[in-house]
Formats: sequence, C-alpha cells, structure tokens
Amino acid sequence: TATEVRDPVRSALESVLDEVRSKTSGEVASYIPELARVDPDPLGVALVSVHGVVHEAGDTDTHFTIQSVSKPFVFALAVDALGLEQVLTHVGIEPSGEPFNAISLEPATGRPLNPMINAGAIVMSSLMAGDTADEKFAAIHAGIERFAGRDLVVDEAVFSSEAQTGNRNRALAYLTLAAGTLGSPVDVATTAYFRQCSISVTARDLATMAATLATGGVNPITRERVISEDAARWTSSVMTSCGMYDESGDWLMRVGLPAKSGVGGGIAAELPGQFGIGTFSPRLDAKGNSVRGVAMLEAMSARFELHQMQHR
Ligand code: GLN
Repeated sequence: TATEVRDPVRSALESVLDEVRSKTSGEVASYIPELARVDPDPLGVALVSVHGVVHEAGDTDTHFTIQSVSKPFVFALAVDALGLEQVLTHVGIEPSGEPFNAISLEPATGRPLNPMINAGAIVMSSLMAGDTADEKFAAIHAGIERFAGRDLVVDEAVFSSEAQTGNRNRALAYLTLAAGTLGSPVDVATTAYFRQCSISVTARDLATMAATLATGGVNPITRERVISEDAARWTSSVMTSCGMYDESGDWLMRVGLPAKSGVGGGIAAELPGQFGIGTFSPRLDAKGNSVRGVAMLEAMSARFELHQMQHR
C-alpha cells in the first residue's frame, strides 16, 4: 500500500548528507591517542523540534565522545546554579580569536576569556557542586543526561587516554589556580573535565541537548525543565560569540546559528524557539571543527534561511 508518508524534513536532511558525503578532507583528532583510532567515515544529522519531534538521517545511532560540545551545557549548569554574576567573576564572555587550547587569560582579572575554550571550560567544571572529582563529575553527568533526556555512559578508553596525555589542560588549570579563578584543586577540576569530555553521545543526543536550549531550558522530549530561561539565553549567546573557537566570526557570517563543536566530530546548533540540530562526522578542519558538520550546517542555513540575522 502507498499509505507510508515520507517525512519531508528527513528527506531534506538526507539530501544534505548527499551534498557533503564526498567531502573527505580533514583529519580525525590525534592529540588524544584514542581519538586517532575512531572510524573517520560515519556521517549523521538529527533535528529535534521544540515540540519534541525527532527527524534524523544517516549515522545517528553511532556513539562518539562529546568533547567540547559539553562546554556550553556545563556553563549553563553553572549559571543556573550560581547565577551569571558569580560565574563572571571566574570567566569572561569575550571571543578569544585563539585556538581552543590557547593560554588565554585576561591579564587584569586572571579570568579565561570565555567558557568555550579549554581554560574557561575547566574553570566551569571546577565550579560544579561537590569537593571531589567524583562529586563534581556526578553533577555534570546528571546535568548532561537531563539535557539529552537519557542515561549516558563515559567512554573509559578515551577518558584514560585523555587523562594520560592532558598535560596542556593541567597547565591551563594551574594558570587559573595561580590567577585565583579556579574553584577547586587542579586534579579535581581536570579529572572532572576529562570525564565530562569522554561522555559518549549520538547526533540525536546533541540535537536534543541543543533543542533544550532552543525551548528556553525545557527538554522537549522529557518535558523536564533543565535550566532557567535566563541560563538558556546566556548559553545561546556565548555559543554565538565563542562556540566555534577562532572560526566563530566566520561561522556567524556564513551560518548564523548558535553552535558548539567538539574534537570528537560532533556539532550542536540551534535555532532558538524552533529546533536543535546535531551533526556527526569525525574529520576536522585546522581549527578542530568537523569539516562535514560545518558543511551540513552551512548548507541547511542557506537552503532553509536559518541565519539569525536574516531579515524576516
Ligand atoms: N577534551 C578535549 C581537550 O580538552 C576537548 C577539546 C575540543 O573538543 N575542542 O583538548
């Protein structure tokens, strides 16, 4: 029978996959040894509307580590719990124009430039409730699960690989400790941060997490309020200005959506009030952003006129 109705959004997502499939430039991240071993070929995209409708195409069940896509969500948990004023005594909100692992502290205050680069993100992890790395990670893990609307596990192989090789991140944490902006001992903050980055997710999870920002803080699938409306707006703002590292200005021009990338190959993007999008493709450009993820979001923004600064 011909009663099966084709989901037009899914068809559109499939055509976006077809458009970028042949772009095999870029390299998987290798500075974390375990990430060098991931399959570079999976390609997936998911879109979750603020009404909780899920559309997906390609490899949306493939798991990968969340990496820096966790950063805006931990910032969101921090501002939700502590308030913006308190958080801003620890971290700035200005784009750094520098790579994600840059030594980037404001000279006068010792604050990392923003919470989307490693230095600022490690400080955010240090502000979570609890005294030990286990307690801080438990707060992070529970929060990320509420954004995703399901139980998530840590990829222990990636965690130990990152913990063994993460000396640059430890050095960044020591600088913030010396400057007085870190909220815990260094090993507590970095262990919580390495575990946070090693949480295993899918493109569908990233879309749900972004959709939770797009609704103003309510997970559209579980209907649970995860963070306040203010915290969601602040988080979308910092993703807009700083989410794509030293590609943020270019991204704002070409795509015009709040977004956050990670070296695991994921990107979470949102159109506030409308939907969240999650993309997955592991090969990265020179700035550490997924080549085909950027290409998919650029194509979708152009085709469906999603740019936030678009005249409507
Ligand atoms: N865990 C990674 C790191 O700290 C995250 C970096 C990223 O995804 N850009 O280096």
